[in-house]
Amino acid sequence: MMKHDILIVGGGVSGAALLYTLSRYTNVKNIGLVEKYSDFGSVNSASTMNSQTLHFGDIETNYTIEKARKVKRSADMVMKYLETEKISNGSEKLFSKYSKMVLAVGKDQVETLRARYKPFSEVFPNLRMIEKDEIGKIEPRVLEGRDPNQELLALVTEDGYTVDFGKLSRNFIVNAKKTNPDISFYLNTRVLKIVKDGDIFKIKTNNGEIEASTVVISAGGHSLMLAKSMGYGKTYSILSMSGSFYTGPKLLNGKVYTMQVAKLPFAAIHGDPEVHDADVTRFGPTAKPIFMLERYNYSTFWEYWKTFGLGIKPIISIVSILFDKVIFGYVMKNVVYDIPSVGKRSFLKEIRKIVPNVKLSEITFAKGVGGTRPQIINNAIRKLEMGEAKIVGEKIIFNITPSPGASTCLGNAFEDTEKLMEFLNNKFTFNKEQFEKDLVL
Ligand SMILES: Cc1cc2nc3c(=O)[nH]c(=O)nc-3n(C[C@H](O)[C@H](O)[C@H](O)COP(=O)(O)OP(=O)(O)OC[C@H]3O[C@@H](n4cnc5c(N)ncnc54)[C@H](O)[C@@H]3O)c2cc1C
Repeated sequence: MMKHDILIVGGGVSGAALLYTLSRYTNVKNIGLVEKYSDFGSVNSASTMNSQTLHFGDIETNYTIEKARKVKRSADMVMKYLETEKISNGSEKLFSKYSKMVLAVGKDQVETLRARYKPFSEVFPNLRMIEKDEIGKIEPRVLEGRDPNQELLALVTEDGYTVDFGKLSRNFIVNAKKTNPDISFYLNTRVLKIVKDGDIFKIKTNNGEIEASTVVISAGGHSLMLAKSMGYGKTYSILSMSGSFYTGPKLLNGKVYTMQVAKLPFAAIHGDPEVHDADVTRFGPTAKPIFMLERYNYSTFWEYWKTFGLGIKPIISIVSILFDKVIFGYVMKNVVYDIPSVGKRSFLKEIRKIVPNVKLSEITFAKGVGGTRPQIINNAIRKLEMGEAKIVGEKIIFNITPSPGASTCLGNAFEDTEKLMEFLNNKFTFNKEQFEKDLVL
């Protein structure tokens, strides 16, 4: 039976980024990666499942400046990785670069955005504040058909990195293999149970048992299910927020975000060119709660309830979160967006905030597109947490990754690698200086 120093569960962009970091920047050789599907990056990291945005915190108006700084550090790592890969391996297109703006419409939003500009421009020197005329030059369809009296303001940057996170996952794996050909890959292998036996983890899968000294679970919402089965993360539950998209022809030249609603941890509606096809514009994502851990995979219904937990506490939390005035109205609207025909008409109003004269016939519901975000409910305070959660146990880490989990994959990998070195009693070394030299600006 194989025994690894480190075993990673989950081959999405988080698990793959960690594998890359371990192979490139540490001297740990005996590593395994378990993935239940036949390929890497095929769940939430797939390009069809998310908004393809490298989030830096510059145009996400619900981030505080502290959160923006933290997300920027991680996003810069991905940006640097992508730019280096483009030079060394130009044949594989991992990303496209478009302009990216956040649009304020009406007096209140304009005032809020204007006030935000000064502190945020200090963190993001490439961010520019632009008025109506320039907005129209970059995005003509944002002005066409709009009430001329409507106040408009935007913050814009050229750093609109649009990433195929599925391809990026596979690219991390290829590069990990180059520096460490001894990695063991277990594809089509589902982790069923993890048991700690003294100093060793016994990982039971549908293909037999694997042993490991340390484990990192990067399995999206399933990380919480595995954590709970081992007695960790008891105060957390998951609100699984699926996101759908509508597509149209080339209506925008770059990314256009709307202003965020402060209470909501999910991105406000935005319009984006597809990563591999600038002639297609995608609008979304919507946000509808579902009782599944994986979108379109009905077998994850029962798994969802395992992460939810038994007892009254999670029920009280979810009721008090969903029945909050702002969230309730928002969720109800979003439930309608997924209903055929009625949904399209009602979503059109949202798109018209960005492209006022868009026609009903121009847009189509994108079938089978859009994953689900495992938003974390903290039952101790009955609130939604704003981003990712990391549960650190004894020689085991569980990563639960709603948005912007793909943008922070390398930052997360850095933190996990530091922890793993501690777990392994510093028998191995992590060349942080080289990591920072290569990937930190
Ligand atoms: C609608 C939507 C829009 C989004 N937009 C953005 C965005 O623009 N920018 C951004 O940064 N983020 C965005 N996100 C979030 C982003 O997609 C995720 O944070 C990211 O893909 C998470 O990567 P991951 O590797 O942690 O999880 P995943 O990609 O879900 O990978 C988890 C892997 O674990 C495997 N797995 C699960 N259980 C087991 C098991 N028991 N045994 C073995 N393997 C298992 C799965 O098969 C899967 O391959 C969005 C998400 C959604 C849903």
